[in-house]
Amino acid sequence: MKELRDAHGFELIIDSVEKISAKDGEVTLKSGTVYNNYDHLVIAMGASKMKHKGLEHTLSICGDPEQSIELKHKVDKIVAMGKGNICFGFGGNPNDSSAVRGGPGFELLFNVHNHLKKKDIRENYKLTFFAPMAEPGKRMGPQALGMMDKMFGMLDINQHFGKKIKRFEKDGIIFEDDSKLDSDFTMFIPAGDGHEVIKNSDLPLNEAGFIKIDDHCEVKFSDIDTFCDGEDMSRPHNIYAIGDIAALEGYDWRAKQGHIAEVMAKNIAHNIKEKDSGGESFLGYHEHLNILCVMDTGNGAAFVYRDDKRAFMFPMPIVGHWLKKGWGLYCRYSKLGKIPRIPGM
Ligand SMILES: Cc1cc2nc3c(=O)[nH]c(=O)nc-3n(C[C@H](O)[C@H](O)[C@H](O)COP(=O)(O)OP(=O)(O)OC[C@H]3O[C@@H](n4cnc5c(N)ncnc54)[C@H](O)[C@@H]3O)c2cc1C
Repeated sequence: MKELRDAHGFELIIDSVEKISAKDGEVTLKSGTVYNNYDHLVIAMGASKMKHKGLEHTLSICGDPEQSIELKHKVDKIVAMGKGNICFGFGGNPNDSSAVRGGPGFELLFNVHNHLKKKDIRENYKLTFFAPMAEPGKRMGPQALGMMDKMFGMLDINQHFGKKIKRFEKDGIIFEDDSKLDSDFTMFIPAGDGHEVIKNSDLPLNEAGFIKIDDHCEVKFSDIDTFCDGEDMSRPHNIYAIGDIAALEGYDWRAKQGHIAEVMAKNIAHNIKEKDSGGESFLGYHEHLNILCVMDTGNGAAFVYRDDKRAFMFPMPIVGHWLKKGWGLYCRYSKLGKIPRIPGM
């Protein structure tokens, strides 16, 4: 963060936001500092996670950074055991279907499969992918769904779909019908949920607790039809929400993704400048809604794309893995201004 500050020249305060009051125009930090003189407020604090019973028996590839290290140790441990059941899965949020993250779960599954294969012990392990929806991955489009099904078959990966998760236990997963999936190690990505600070604020929220915005990412106060403590909330607030914290609207396959967060961030920078100079040529995010993912498989990758006109997936053996690694380096160094950005990206 400090490196980014130095590259872009903004003031950085490392503190936690504890309260946001739109009515009073105040942001309260953990240290007690209260900001109440902003011209524009951009909220970009990401999403919280859905809570599940027994989540402590799982690790997530999308959790705190420390969990990825724990995951590595756990995989090493189960490899040392020489055999076992490993289950990978992700959950959904019934109140917002866009708050789901499955891609990294598939990536870890395929990487573990290849890791075990390289060690020549793959046949000693039962690998299972589980999810409460009947067709996880459906949002990637019908062709991708068919291809994933084929890949699972070819790699001898079991599928356990369409049953709601009741709880996690030390040695397995219990489903709504009390059936149990045995597991020596469970990797589970809970669905996204509204941020606690936001749920306790006076901002307009959808049912899952994400902030309602318009196409220009400005918070939709017009949706609040009651006055808040006598204050007319429909007045302009100059408050915006971008990224995972915002309620995305549109196609049923829409998903909270990093490239959408980036588009929103760029748009907001433009829109604020436009607003302050009295212009009206604002940029929207809807036209940029798509699913874009390079799914690493450890020995290659699969390119997945979907927008309102097309949906496709194609395999990129070997080169895809290095392309994804290279993209990570490009992102880091171009954002730090150490290498130029590719125009339009
Ligand atoms: C493993 C993984 C793989 C992914 N792969 C892809 C991919 O291939 N393509 C893609 O497009 N997207 C991908 N995503 C999704 C992408 O990372 C997110 O959509 C994106 O990071 C959202 O950005 P954001 O800024 O809204 O939220 P975040 O990146 O979550 O950032 C929110 C920030 O706010 C901070 N914060 C939270 N609460 C507070 C508080 N109270 N006070 C102060 N700060 C706070 C957090 O610490 C964090 O730094 C992936 C995500 C994961 C986890």
